[in-house]
Amino acid sequence: MTDWKTRTKLVHAGTRRSQYGEVAEAIYLTQGFVYDTAEAAEARFIEAGPDEYIYARYGNPTVRMFEDRIAALEGTEDAFATASGMAAVNGALTSLLRAGDHVVSARALFGSCLYILEEILTRYGVEVTFVDGTDLDQWRAAVRPGTKAVFFESMSNPTLEVIDVAAVAGIAHAVGALVIVDNVFATPVFSRAVELGADVIVYSATKHIDGQGRCLGGVICGTKQFVRKVAEPYLKHTGGALSPFNAWVMLKGMETLDLRVRAQADSAMALAEALDGHAKLARVIYPGLAAHPQHATAAAQMDGFGTVLALDLAGGREAAFRFLNALEIVTISNNLGDAKSIITHPATTTHQRLSPAQRESLGIGEGLVRLSVGLEDTGDLIADVTRALESA
Ligand SMILES: *Cc1c(COP(=O)(O)O)cnc(C)c1O
Repeated sequence: MTDWKTRTKLVHAGTRRSQYGEVAEAIYLTQGFVYDTAEAAEARFIEAGPDEYIYARYGNPTVRMFEDRIAALEGTEDAFATASGMAAVNGALTSLLRAGDHVVSARALFGSCLYILEEILTRYGVEVTFVDGTDLDQWRAAVRPGTKAVFFESMSNPTLEVIDVAAVAGIAHAVGALVIVDNVFATPVFSRAVELGADVIVYSATKHIDGQGRCLGGVICGTKQFVRKVAEPYLKHTGGALSPFNAWVMLKGMETLDLRVRAQADSAMALAEALDGHAKLARVIYPGLAAHPQHATAAAQMDGFGTVLALDLAGGREAAFRFLNALEIVTISNNLGDAKSIITHPATTTHQRLSPAQRESLGIGEGLVRLSVGLEDTGDLIADVTRALESA
């Protein structure tokens, strides 16, 4: 299985068949598992063997299939599935950190990730230093001997800053810090995070892995030691387990993940090129454009440039709202990675909680919109967006 290519892993890795030999993965919609004897129950509580389950909060065969499939794809030894992407981010950080520990994090983060680092970890005595993730000197200055972990989104939401994973990992490993990467925007298809030195990779499966707007889910990928000895004890007792039904949706989503993400990224590139230099736009932000400040880093560390672009409307909030309201195919919503193209105005939605000064420092202006490119016909999308821009 280790020499299978991506598409083969996405269809087959982790599959477990019952005695019925079903083709499609079974949904084991059960909370508990029966033991033949009291002695067998005792033995399993002492140490569960492979494919021995106790309770669905700890593990479940359908969930296990999803964990094995994503671990095979990402190239990590193991994975633990969670109820949402945020349960994965929180689980990876909170299971590892203790009062007195020091963490360095990039400042440009998804709002809920920022909340965990800024509001929750600090409440329990963890010291967090924020840096501009694209400035390696700031990482070098912020880490110190004993820094426990560094955290960043390899491509940030929503401004698409690309962080040099190998360089930051080098700085972190020099002081013994663990590298925890939120890799949602890079996608599991384009990710090479493991070979770049990431130790723990976190995904919101809600995004590209489902990819069809149905279920929440998340996953923590890493070494057996981290996943089973650090993350699992925390997660199984605090209740962030993925439902078997949602795991099944994610498994079926993975079968088409490579095809979908590549098609969406191709359309994102075509849209970025078509819109670059448009009179109504102050900026088109897409790592695939040569003018993107981290274009070279993105090209070196990913096998594609992602499915999301950001557009900065010259006319500010009013122009952005007129643009959104004039779109016919692209829908206004705040998910991403979906088959449907989705657009959002971060300053008034996903990043509303931040102060204007914080938004300013993250480059989230009043004219900025985030466009997640779906699976519609590329020409139709370009036509919809360019026509709606006339209204802006
Ligand atoms: C959506 C998202 C999350 C959170 O995932 P949920 O499944 O919504 O909990 C975390 N990080 C990034 C970068 C995201 O885009």
